[in-house]
Amino acid sequence: MQSVYLDYAATTPMDPEVLEEMMPYFTEMFGNPSSVYSLASRSRKAIDRAREQVASALNADVSEIFFTSSGTEADNWALKGIVERSGVPGAHVITTRIEHHAVLHTAEYLQKFEDASVTYLPVDAEGRVSLEDLKAAFTDKTVLVSVMFANNEVGTIQPIGEIGKLCRERGVPFHTDAVQAAAQLDIDVKALNIDMMSMSAHKMYGPKGTGAFFVRRGLKLENLVHGGGQEKGRRASTENIAGIVGMGAAIERMKARLPQERPRLTALRDRLIEGVLKTVPHAKLNGARGEERLPNNTNFSFIGVEGETLLLDLDSKGISASTGSACSSGSLDPSHVLMAMGLSHEQAHGSLRMTLGRGTSDEQVDYVLATLPEVVAKRRAMSPLWDERLGSVPGR
Ligand SMILES: *Cc1c(COP(=O)(O)O)cnc(C)c1O
Repeated sequence: MQSVYLDYAATTPMDPEVLEEMMPYFTEMFGNPSSVYSLASRSRKAIDRAREQVASALNADVSEIFFTSSGTEADNWALKGIVERSGVPGAHVITTRIEHHAVLHTAEYLQKFEDASVTYLPVDAEGRVSLEDLKAAFTDKTVLVSVMFANNEVGTIQPIGEIGKLCRERGVPFHTDAVQAAAQLDIDVKALNIDMMSMSAHKMYGPKGTGAFFVRRGLKLENLVHGGGQEKGRRASTENIAGIVGMGAAIERMKARLPQERPRLTALRDRLIEGVLKTVPHAKLNGARGEERLPNNTNFSFIGVEGETLLLDLDSKGISASTGSACSSGSLDPSHVLMAMGLSHEQAHGSLRMTLGRGTSDEQVDYVLATLPEVVAKRRAMSPLWDERLGSVPGR
């Protein structure tokens, strides 16, 4: 049986070269970078180099890059750090309804415990926020705008440059969760007027448990993790040197491969999309097309099928995919992203996300296109609620 991994948006396998660069920092180069001897200075140098690698990938300065334990931590830091620093009673935050839970649940926390007020911008049917809605949302208490660069479920890329410009004109800090985008796109934080940006190594063929956070020089935010003086006194805890080395190596290699990898994935993505829409009756593509979609993302709805069941069927054929929403808790809530895009419960429950990456080949796409229509048809045939003639689930 084929083994086809199509969940690169959830996590990626480690690049063997990245692992090789990390290895010495698990073994002989174990010095604590805060110590004075030369073993420690080797660790410091490794961190400095990784910071240069990340900074140069983003057109940022090394002083603007901080290492964290994850993309989630960077998102928490951005939101909590700005709101707590602002000192504005009832500080106002603008974000969107389709953010990752690392942003959404942090915003909810700030509403509950920091007396913040939050505007959750709606999105259109393809998952795009409107600049007019954003303009209308600013108040004299707005201290932060946080809009994700590209969505992890449907791959829609937001008009980040325009959003950055609007925020800069108003003097409001702009944070973007670029955990997905930074693994797929060329990002210039200066050109896009980004003030803060979250990234994660394990979404770009690096190790799990390491993130990077860009903070524009001069921007003031409170610390999130308190303790020692690491990261220039802004993020405490003994550095995860191997992880940091992995983050630097991963982003550098990813950037170098982008000119070949981006068009390759885009072509595979579009072939998968066209193939599925042609061969599976009543299939719907979720998200935007072309340049406004991440090169590696596909997301479909097949009404009359439960997404979770479909995943198990596909798994039995060797295909690893996702519904797009992290239903790890076993919760039956449909994806908040698909609901915000105006999908029905049926459509949201019948969703399938397949995200491509370095290991994805033409043959694998052929295999999926040969397998998926059958699997969907079988499930629909078994459903007492599915009516093929109507192409719908009547009475629900
Ligand atoms: C994966 C992901 C995160 C979380 O990153 P971790 O490093 O796994 O904590 C945040 N935002 C988006 C958009 C993601 O895809």
